[in-house]
Amino acid sequence: MRIHVIQTGIFAIKSVQPEGRGKGNPILNIVLDKNWTEPLPIFAFVIEHPEGLIVVDTGETARVAEPGYFPWWHPYYRFGLQEWVQHEEEIGPQMRAIGLDPRDVRWVLLTHLHTDHAGGLAHFPKAEHLVSRSEYTYAKGTGGLFRGYPSNRWPRWFNPTLINMQPEPISSFPVSYPVTRAGDVRFVPTPGHTVGHLSVVVTTSEMTYFLAGDASYTQALMLSEKIDGVSPDRATARQTLERVHAFCRATPTAYLPSHDLDTPDRLANRKVAIASSTPTAVMVGAV
Ligand SMILES: [Zn+2]
Repeated sequence: MRIHVIQTGIFAIKSVQPEGRGKGNPILNIVLDKNWTEPLPIFAFVIEHPEGLIVVDTGETARVAEPGYFPWWHPYYRFGLQEWVQHEEEIGPQMRAIGLDPRDVRWVLLTHLHTDHAGGLAHFPKAEHLVSRSEYTYAKGTGGLFRGYPSNRWPRWFNPTLINMQPEPISSFPVSYPVTRAGDVRFVPTPGHTVGHLSVVVTTSEMTYFLAGDASYTQALMLSEKIDGVSPDRATARQTLERVHAFCRATPTAYLPSHDLDTPDRLANRKVAIASSTPTAVMVGAV
């Protein structure tokens, strides 16, 4: 099994978004914040697995530069987001550059449906797309558009498999969803950043990789269990961060969020989130 990280451009968001500021309306907090983050990477992942090619999130599309791509009336796109993506930075061309054909992808796993995770869907018309039922329900249609998901830009053929968690605990998570038959690639529920947010746990004989999506924007924010500025449900977000933290304490884990500058280094050099982790077997399917 081999995991590749692919950077599909950069974005800047308001400072209040990754770190949060406690209470108040998230969108209003973002609109009123005058400070932008430094440009941050938009990462996606490709896993070469014996059961087939797996993509985790699809990154962003260069189409974001087209006038009117995002709804002009939505305050988040107008005041809260700047993105820079070149055509050759999209996930399709980048996969071809490393000798992988996007048409060979078996599964596209979506941590959530925000634009910078679902923007590259058009590259994978033949794959099976997996997303949580609650995320898809929340993101689709006109309602989803208002809630900040550009559902009008999803490819017409986009008809994802909606997954339900199985009673298969893994470490601190009481349920999970096995993607591969081997059970070494599985979804765990990490709601908070969005209602149906998922993360992907990849277990190898050497260590575990936690593909976190936006469960937190950085590893430091996960370790300090700091809730971000867009989570609609703070209690749920807190519980998720506690669970992810506990997972990293129990198991040597490389923690790989989608916008953390250190994600490629952690992946390449197998750097664990908590160095003092003592190797313990990951309890897959234990009752
Ligand atoms: Zn997001």
